[in-house]
Amino acid sequence: MFLPNDLSYILNEFAEERENYFNAVSPPIMQTSNFTFKKVDDLRTAFADEMTGYLYSRGLNPTVEILRKKMAALDGAEDCLVLSNGAAARFAGVLANVKAGDHVVSVRNPYTWAQRTFDVILPKFGVTTTYVDGREIKKIENAVQSNTTLIYLESPNSWDYALQDLKAVADLAKSKKILTMIDNSYCTPLYQRPIDFGIDLCMQTATKYIGGHSDTLGGVLSGSHQMIKKIFDSEFLNVGSGIQPFNAWLLIRGLRTLPARFERITRSTMEVVNFLKQHDKVEHVIFPFDESFPQYELAKKQMRGACGLLTFTLRNGSCESITTFCESLKHILMAVSWGGHESLIIPKCSGIDPKDFIAGNMEHQYIRMYVGLEDASYLIADLNQALNLV
Ligand SMILES: *Cc1c(COP(=O)(O)O)cnc(C)c1O
Repeated sequence: MFLPNDLSYILNEFAEERENYFNAVSPPIMQTSNFTFKKVDDLRTAFADEMTGYLYSRGLNPTVEILRKKMAALDGAEDCLVLSNGAAARFAGVLANVKAGDHVVSVRNPYTWAQRTFDVILPKFGVTTTYVDGREIKKIENAVQSNTTLIYLESPNSWDYALQDLKAVADLAKSKKILTMIDNSYCTPLYQRPIDFGIDLCMQTATKYIGGHSDTLGGVLSGSHQMIKKIFDSEFLNVGSGIQPFNAWLLIRGLRTLPARFERITRSTMEVVNFLKQHDKVEHVIFPFDESFPQYELAKKQMRGACGLLTFTLRNGSCESITTFCESLKHILMAVSWGGHESLIIPKCSGIDPKDFIAGNMEHQYIRMYVGLEDASYLIADLNQALNLV
């Protein structure tokens, strides 16, 4: 597949054949389940390989194709699949690359549903998982067994932003013929392109930054054409988790403004980080592009930027003070997810029974903020008034 590198070209023109739809600037939503044939022979050809022609929208759909080509180009990959959400993309990528008796090495505390796949689904089929602190390549290397077939990464993690050295992990895995897969949701290809470092399979949710407006879900899985074809023919068509045409259209629309949104969010996030760092009610601020971040050098080496998500703790944060703070915010909304126009807050303690909250456990005190598209001064004023109430 042709891989143009210019971002503006990919987002505005690439894969759009406007002369086929009245030169409309915005592509049509091809809301169809099936495609007709005049010749039995043509139908036979379509059955033989669903990935080369339109037969049924569980396989290929023209609106989804536009998004698929753009996302592969952004990832610097030969090919990709667009699925109904990030969890589906991750599940397809993992399932396609393990079989009974295999072993997975995963970074510890991956995204909730990755952990559920490793802990609940894979053991049913005799696949085991070892979790490691991926900040040290030695720990990954030591966890590899003779039956390890997959190393699963998430860099940065979406709560504490722990990184893995992607080039080092890719080199290690290649030397042992182990496949590598990463959850690249925090960065998107704008800020990190894992395939450039030699990672085999790159997954990201499109629900967050790609959509950008909190109105659709989507997920992307990128890799070599051979790998993507294997997943298409098996997990993708079997589970039937491809994205719907209208949702693909929303994501194409979201892509148009992705760089502009990233620029603004990057600027606002630094303002919010700097405000929180100097506030006397705030103990720690964790953000991968802040100089105080323990892996700041690695972040600068392999990421082009960081924005949106940051984590902080309150001085002597208790379950009560964290609750008071979060409930006192007037404009920043309390919700899961991120990447949309609206700024969000979520305290780690919302997932912990209050009687299990350990005051000395920094992780229990985590408050994660997502900086959206509002003015930084508007957000800072809201944070300030809520901090002053704790
Ligand atoms: C949201 C998220 C996912 C899952 O994506 P969905 O589109 O919600 O299924 C995966 N990984 C990370 C880091 C996420 O934040």
